[in-house]
Amino acid sequence: MSGGHETPTSAAAIAADREAFRVFLREHNLPATAQRLAIADVVLGTDRHLSADDVARELRAHGARAGTATVYRTLEVLVRSGLVVERDFAEGFKRYEASRGIPHHEHLLCTMCGRVTEFRDERLERMTTLLAEAHDFSRQRHRLVIYGLCGACRRGPSSSTSGMHHGS
Ligand SMILES: [Zn+2]
Ligand SMILES: [Zn+2]
Repeated sequence: MSGGHETPTSAAAIAADREAFRVFLREHNLPATAQRLAIADVVLGTDRHLSADDVARELRAHGARAGTATVYRTLEVLVRSGLVVERDFAEGFKRYEASRGIPHHEHLLCTMCGRVTEFRDERLERMTTLLAEAHDFSRQRHRLVIYGLCGACRRGPSSSTSGMHHGS
């Protein structure tokens, strides 16, 4: 009954995003600096929901350097380009995820480890439409974040590799 799904991101999709970002920079007369491209690579190259701090950490891990201001400014440009979506889960900071082809989806946020899980469920989509109609409301969009504890945090560190796996 869980609507979890994974959308493996192909290397081709990531490459297309990177190229689209270069085009966006060129069209807006913004220099395609090594720093900007490195920041874009971090965010566009993952399916995770990264904070600006996460991005800075990833950059350092790859031997690249970029000041906090540059990270924030580049994230802003990425959001303006439509390639990246900004998420506010009321954690006191924003997170960023590549928008590439993601259909509308909801989030589960673990308040202990900060892991974000995505899900999509047609029943929820229908329900929000019905609820809106019941309130004489024309639905445009909605967002849902479920806060709680992920399975790994609930079970504790000792059981991280246990658990049943079904094939596929
Ligand atoms: Zn957790
Ligand atoms: Zn997401």
